[in-house]
Amino acid sequence: MLTPADLPPSIQLQRDAPLAEWSTLEVGGTAQWFTPVDDLQQFQQAQTWAEKEGLSIFYLGEGSNVLFPDGNLPGLVLRNLIKGRQKSGNEVELGGGEKLENVVCWLNDLGLAGMERLYGIPGTLAGALVGNAGAYGQQVSSVVLEVSFWSGDRVEVLSASDLEFAYRHSLFKVHREWFILSCRLGLTRSVESLQDVSDEILSRRLEKYPEGLRCPGSFFKNITLDEVSQETLKKIPENFIMFEKIPAGKLLEAVGANGVRRGDAQFASYHGNLIINLDQANSQDILGLAREYAERVWERFSIRLEPEICILPEDAWPKWSNQ
Ligand SMILES: Cc1cc2nc3c(=O)[nH]c(=O)nc-3n(C[C@H](O)[C@H](O)[C@H](O)COP(=O)(O)OP(=O)(O)OC[C@H]3O[C@@H](n4cnc5c(N)ncnc54)[C@H](O)[C@@H]3O)c2cc1C
Repeated sequence: MLTPADLPPSIQLQRDAPLAEWSTLEVGGTAQWFTPVDDLQQFQQAQTWAEKEGLSIFYLGEGSNVLFPDGNLPGLVLRNLIKGRQKSGNEVELGGGEKLENVVCWLNDLGLAGMERLYGIPGTLAGALVGNAGAYGQQVSSVVLEVSFWSGDRVEVLSASDLEFAYRHSLFKVHREWFILSCRLGLTRSVESLQDVSDEILSRRLEKYPEGLRCPGSFFKNITLDEVSQETLKKIPENFIMFEKIPAGKLLEAVGANGVRRGDAQFASYHGNLIINLDQANSQDILGLAREYAERVWERFSIRLEPEICILPEDAWPKWSNQ
C-alpha cells in the first residue's frame, strides 16, 4: 500500500486540512486529505494514490460555487492550479486552473471579444466550464471550441457540441469523475475597448456583490420556462418572468426570504437568491435557511428550486426537480 510518504515530494498532501479558506463562503470543516496540483503529472500521481487508497476525490477550483460540510469531508480534495496560455489567431488554449478574471483581462488586451461581460465572476476557467458560467448576456460555452479532460484513465478531448452545455449546466456536472485540464476557445476580433466594457460590468456587479462578501454567488438556479407546466405557470405573476426564465430570487422574495437570518447565515436584504455568511455561519445554518425557503416556494408556487452551487456531501440536498 502507498503512503503519503511514497508520493513524490512535489505533491504536498495535507491531512485534516481546513476547508473554509478554500471557499468564498468561508464555511466548512476539514478535508481528510487536500492537495494542490500544478500540472498533469502531479494530477495523475495524486489521483493514482487516492485510487489505490480507495478515496473519493473532489475537484476544486477557487471554491466560489461550493458549500462544504461542517465536519470532516472524507477523501481527497484536489485543487486545480494548472495554468497556461497560448494564442493562435483568434483562438486561445488555456489551462483550466487559470483564473477567469485574468483570462478576461488577457483577452481584452489582445482585442479578442466574447468573454468581456464575464468579468467579475470569481473562480477558475474549469469551474466556469462545469457550470457554464454566465452574466450580462454572455456565457462561457458560446466561445468554447473543445475541452481536454482526464476521463478516469486517459486524457480525452470533446468539442463544445458534445458537452451538453445549457443554462448553468454541462456534461461535467454529470461526470463528476472527469477532471478538466485545459480548453480551446474561439473569440472574435474587436476594435472596441473591451476592458471598458468589463469595467462597466464590474461596477454594476459590485452593487450586488460588494468586495469581501462571503457568498457563493446565486444560491439557486433560475427556472427555465420549459421546466414548468402551464398549471404552475398560472401561479407566477407575469412581471416575474424575465428572458424566458423565472428568477429564483423573485420567488424567494415573494415568500419573504429577503433579510431572514439563521445563526450567521442570512438571505441578503436586497436579493432573495443570495445567502451570505455574516461571520461564523456553518453549513447547517445555510442549508436550513435554504431548505426552509425552498419549501415555502414549493408550497406557494409548486416550483422546486434547485441549487446552482455544489453542496457537499452530495446527499445534503434532496434530488428533486420540476420535471
Ligand atoms: C460573488 C460571486 C459572484 C458570482 N457571480 C456569478 C455569475 O454572475 N455567473 C455565474 O455563472 N456564476 C457566478 N458565481 C459562481 C461562481 O463564481 C462560478 O460558478 C465559477 O465559475 C466557479 O468556479 P470555481 O473555480 O470557483 O469552481 P468551484 O467552486 O471550485 O467548483 C465548482 C464546481 O466545479 C467543479 N470543478 C472545479 N474545477 C474542476 C475541474 N478542473 N474539473 C472538473 N470539475 C471541476 C467542482 O467539483 C464543483 O462541482 C459567483 C460567485 C461569487 C462568489
